[in-house]
Amino acid sequence: MITAFPWHEPLWHTIHTAYQKDRLPHALLFCGVQGMGKTALAQRLAALLLCETPLADGNPCQQCKACQLRQANNHPDFLEIAPAEAGKQILIDQIRQLIQFCALTSHHGRYQVALIHPAEAMNHNAANSLLKILEEPPAKTVLLLVSHQPSALMATIRSRCQRVDFSKVNPAVTQQWLSQQLPNHPAIPLLLNLSAQAPLTALALAQGDALNQRQQLLDSLIKLPTGQEEPIKVAELWGQMEAIQVIHWMLSWTMDLIRLQLAGQQSPVTNIDKRNALQGLAPTVPLPRLFELLEMEKEAYQLIKGTSNVKPQGLFESLAITWGRVRRKE
Ligand SMILES: [Zn+2]
Repeated sequence: MITAFPWHEPLWHTIHTAYQKDRLPHALLFCGVQGMGKTALAQRLAALLLCETPLADGNPCQQCKACQLRQANNHPDFLEIAPAEAGKQILIDQIRQLIQFCALTSHHGRYQVALIHPAEAMNHNAANSLLKILEEPPAKTVLLLVSHQPSALMATIRSRCQRVDFSKVNPAVTQQWLSQQLPNHPAIPLLLNLSAQAPLTALALAQGDALNQRQQLLDSLIKLPTGQEEPIKVAELWGQMEAIQVIHWMLSWTMDLIRLQLAGQQSPVTNIDKRNALQGLAPTVPLPRLFELLEMEKEAYQLIKGTSNVKPQGLFESLAITWGRVRRKE
């Protein structure tokens, strides 16, 4: 399956032009937040490099033997490397498999293509092995690395890849696409704001129960500082929600309060639907308290996101208690 999203077009144009001029680098790093369709664009390039008779616009013909093999996930010149399970590491054995793959010549006389996603999942040994391939790239082989967090990659890996940067996509294009996917949805800009402007994340957010949960969470964050809610009960409520999502929303709420305090009441906020509540709360909360919360939330985010088996309930209780006394000056 080749998926072409409209916000990819300028990036695709650059890549396709380089391909046509035979100036495609041997390694590309597709980077940007999750939910931009980075892997889909990398797969589209892989399809072009494998197809025997690509179309003039760079799309694969979908007819030739190579396209059929690729569609059946059975093309010998294509290797996909990903963690065995989401959240796990990419191990050195997987990169050894890549080294063997690179030592072969292409079965179909076109390119050999490897896709590594997410590249930041490589453990230290795996990354070091990959570096050796990048230092002496085999001919007619293209490595496609996808990363949601390129800063987590070794600098020496980053510097040997050409960046395909998804952070500068045109917001008008993503808004229009999302409006087409969600006709009559009242809160398209909010959905994108809550998703770091990533349209695929925004779409998933609209389709689940997440917005209701966010409403409950923000209600409790508005009431906790006024003493209208019991922190332990609130923490129980948060415990029924998806933990990483709770922290993510809480961080965006705290950041908004800090923005309003530092840059004034008219400064832009992420939670645009709650501007009135934010403007009411911001002047009543001492800034050092907000920074204290920000640190706690970042730490909780890392703990919950990491591989350690941390129970979020204890973290939620401390956070709810701190939110409950956020107005107190000490
Ligand atoms: Zn083809």
